[in-house]
Amino acid sequence: MHDSHGLVPLLFSGLFGAVVGSFLNVCIYRLPRRESVAWPGSHCPSCSHPIAWYDNLPILSYVILAGHCRYCRVRIPLHYPAVEILNGLGYVAVVFFFGLTWSTVVYWGLYSALLVVAGTDLSHKIIPNVITLPGIVLGLISAGTILPLGLVNGMIGALVGGGILWLLAWASPYLFGKEGMGGGDIKLLAMIGAFLGWKPAVMTIMLGSFLGSVVGVALIASRAIRREDYIPFGPFLVCGALVSLFFGQSLLEWYQGLLAG
Ligand SMILES: [Zn+2]
Repeated sequence: MHDSHGLVPLLFSGLFGAVVGSFLNVCIYRLPRRESVAWPGSHCPSCSHPIAWYDNLPILSYVILAGHCRYCRVRIPLHYPAVEILNGLGYVAVVFFFGLTWSTVVYWGLYSALLVVAGTDLSHKIIPNVITLPGIVLGLISAGTILPLGLVNGMIGALVGGGILWLLAWASPYLFGKEGMGGGDIKLLAMIGAFLGWKPAVMTIMLGSFLGSVVGVALIASRAIRREDYIPFGPFLVCGALVSLFFGQSLLEWYQGLLAG
């Protein structure tokens, strides 16, 4: 047990994560619209009234305002507090699993990047290059300096992760008769591979495909969508990457144990 498992570091991480989550909401809203995330300050998308700092407290303001804009009373979508809560919980999980080291900061960054990608892919079917391309570079730099992974393993991870999805994207019109995924998914997996290495990247693809198939079949069976409808793959890859980040080592050991019999 690390002493970083104490209540104070976990609580601080959760609060910090929720504050960052508030900024991630801005990214999820503005990046697909190609707007600056720095300027202008937060405003209500409905009435454009600037949002004061006391109405911009993560989670708390949503509860105080009962989920409505103070000025025009329009409903604030539930995904705003949801992203803040998810990012807070994610930061707690990173500290819980990895302790408080420089790697923690790197994984916080990766977690938040993945959350933004899941959000923009769900809402706009877009995986922004401004997240994934700098993400690949930052992943490689982190792998070569802070993370135990090492630069070479980071590069192999990016090539294998991106390469497999590139092949799948190329083959899916032949295999499934429709476009399976876009360039965004390829760059996303290259980013994940750069941070985590090739085994967790392959695991991400397997878990993401499995989850995507299960959810896809369920949605088609319940007639929520039609067979030919496009389902964004990014959120499933993000789920797979998070499982690989937190449980990848345990899963690999379990799997190798199975093989060793
Ligand atoms: Zn408003």
